[in-house]
Amino acid sequence: MTNPNLTNSNLNNMNATLKTVLLQPVRQKVTRRRLWGMALLLSVGIVACQAPSANEADQVSDQAANLEGEQVINLYSARHYDVDEVLYEQFTADTGIQVNVLEGQPDELIERIVNEGEQSPADVFIAVDAGRMWRAQEAGILQPVTSKVLTDEVPENLREPNGEWFGLTTRARVLVYNTEKVNPSELSTYEDLADPKWKGRVCIRSSENVYNQSLLGSMVESIGPEATQAWAEGLVANFARQPEGGDTDQIKAVAAGQCDVAIANHYYWARMAKSDDPAEKAAVEKTAVFFPNQQDRGTHVNISGMGLVKTAPHAENGIAFMEFLVSPAAQKVFAESNNEYPVVKGVALDPVVSELGDFKVDEVNVATYGRNNPEVNKIVDRVGWQ
Ligand code: FE
Repeated sequence: MTNPNLTNSNLNNMNATLKTVLLQPVRQKVTRRRLWGMALLLSVGIVACQAPSANEADQVSDQAANLEGEQVINLYSARHYDVDEVLYEQFTADTGIQVNVLEGQPDELIERIVNEGEQSPADVFIAVDAGRMWRAQEAGILQPVTSKVLTDEVPENLREPNGEWFGLTTRARVLVYNTEKVNPSELSTYEDLADPKWKGRVCIRSSENVYNQSLLGSMVESIGPEATQAWAEGLVANFARQPEGGDTDQIKAVAAGQCDVAIANHYYWARMAKSDDPAEKAAVEKTAVFFPNQQDRGTHVNISGMGLVKTAPHAENGIAFMEFLVSPAAQKVFAESNNEYPVVKGVALDPVVSELGDFKVDEVNVATYGRNNPEVNKIVDRVGWQ
């Protein structure tokens, strides 16, 4: 097997990717099944990216043929929660289909599937954030799935219109404010944070972060690129400091009085509320969550998503697995593992998440976030949002 697109620099990148992927699961609780999956996947992967001899190529296709006959599904996942493993075991108990998991960073997993090409053992790809599911789609590694279960269970706004990927759980991008410095009656919308009354009071992470890119992508869709740019300009003018750290750091900065309000995903706040770390608990006590845009389009939500890989050797098993993940029991476990909202209606929420209350969701389709990303990149460049 030769791949004309493989250059030396691709190979170097692949080596780096392999190392990273190798290191990833070692930090976690490694199960025998996962190790078995790793060994198999890595052996296929390494051979696939080193342009093997004819003999080696035969071995690879033999392995792929064996894979096709087995009751397995090979999952490439950018989610890393121990509880996910419990779910995969339940799927095996229900169906007899083994789940082999390869964990890694989302962009690395996408690159890996691209490089593995036709030989890829990957069946299902899971990532957090619609922007990354969009990148997978753009890289051409997914295929449309027609499944009544998936279209019935996953609301239309939370799936790619052609069935290339589906939301699994949602996360709300909320405002977190300092309860001593801000009265919630002062808060209303994302747009309002560009008002001069917030000068020097707003914290948010870098515009390179995919959560912010998706938020801006949704705004481009709803209010248009000019209004989104004007908003971003006003927001940057109101920054309390240059963007640094992740969402948790923004919440801590609000608690410490460095800023009065931040934009962050709700589950970071919920995770801190459940933390055993006294500093995190104290930070949560000084802050509260506000759902913006409740009087108009609703609060921006993002997804953890899943898609069937274009070259999936076990496509049927992959679809069965995806359908299993939207069953009420799986939804409950999957959402709770990261304090998220299930995509399936009627599934009980985690108590801490439930206490945040009901809110109106912005129902703009999640596929627009990635589609508008080129425009978003221009906007953040023009307004100097680092
Ligand atoms: Fe996150």
